[in-house]
Amino acid sequence: MREFRYERADDPAAAVALLAAEPSGAFLGGGTNLVDLMKLGVATPDVLVDVRTLTSAEVTDLPDGGLRIGAAVPNADLAADRRVRERFPVLAQALLAGASGQLRNRATTGGNLLQRTRCTYFTDVTRPCNKREPGSGCGALEGVHRNHAILGQTLDGPGACIATHPSDMAVALVALDAVVQVLGPEGERAVPIAELHRLPGDDPSRDTTLRHGELISAIELPPLPFAARSRYRKARDRASFAFALVSVAAAVDVADGVVRDVRLALGGVAHRPWRATTAEEALRGRPATEESFAAAADAELAAATPLRDNGFKVPLARNLVVRTLLEVAR
Ligand SMILES: Cc1cc2nc3c(=O)[nH]c(=O)nc-3n(C[C@H](O)[C@H](O)[C@H](O)COP(=O)(O)OP(=O)(O)OC[C@H]3O[C@@H](n4cnc5c(N)ncnc54)[C@H](O)[C@@H]3O)c2cc1C
Ligand code: SF4
Repeated sequence: MREFRYERADDPAAAVALLAAEPSGAFLGGGTNLVDLMKLGVATPDVLVDVRTLTSAEVTDLPDGGLRIGAAVPNADLAADRRVRERFPVLAQALLAGASGQLRNRATTGGNLLQRTRCTYFTDVTRPCNKREPGSGCGALEGVHRNHAILGQTLDGPGACIATHPSDMAVALVALDAVVQVLGPEGERAVPIAELHRLPGDDPSRDTTLRHGELISAIELPPLPFAARSRYRKARDRASFAFALVSVAAAVDVADGVVRDVRLALGGVAHRPWRATTAEEALRGRPATEESFAAAADAELAAATPLRDNGFKVPLARNLVVRTLLEVAR
């Protein structure tokens, strides 16, 4: 068995200082992803710094009508929060579409955002994987890749990676333009969530733009009145306890049959939650009809480069976008 240290700090700044001094260390939230990866030998931190009781476990109102979600808020509590259910139903639905009741009770907001890909080559240390072991290759490219990405992949070279990001919650937060509050060795900074997760580029080992030692302290949701009519839809192989093949988070503002504004993000299709900006652009000012929704989905998916076994994700994403937009625009 591999030994590691478990540390607790008195406050968030002390936790950041502890981790910054340990090149091979990690924060511990609910542990529902990190501890699994440690058991598999995929994650091998020398020290765990427990932050579950250090950051806020409260959801609070912001003066502008938005919400501040502490990084330690359990996923179950966030999904049940009355303000989230009324003002941002897409977020509550995304949370309830993920994991199980027991896991949602334990999992934290910060940890959910930073959970790692479920690519089976990544979690099997006997297989090649550029994300786990840079330069070893990508087993999924020529192997089993039915669940893998169709957008934004790196398809060759030492950076090859076609993994998808697993968090349902993150897809809803991207659609809602959330802002991630971070505390690091150099102080605080605010990261728009669209800039938190990365495409593989030439270094798939980095999932996010966070630096070592940076702690997520909270997520802020700006006000978005039309998000009261938002929706999360998830297509998966089993009705529960399964990650998304494709998912859609959508909110639409329709007046007199015309799309005034729209927020659209996709999950299960890329290395990061995919904000569908091309589709959004195609929709603003257009009639709120099935034809417009289908044209917008096609415009977004024109960039897709499906592989041997995951071409089905293109029509699946198209149909899911159209159905979800029809539902929220009704
Ligand atoms: C069987 C199973 C099914 C699942 N199904 C789904 C699903 O369908 N959809 C879905 O979205 N999720 C699913 N999950 C994943 C689950 O949602 C995540 O495991 C959970 O959200 C991770 O939260 P945690 O607090 O336990 O994170 P941890 O495991 O504690 O940490 C995860 C990562 O975040 C880092 N971290 C934790 N907190 C902070 C912080 N405050 N600041 C900086 N870094 C931090 C850790 O260092 C680690 O790298 C499933 C999990 C399991 C086991
Ligand atoms: S897709 Fe990415 S995570 Fe999966 S084997 Fe390839 S490099 Fe590793």
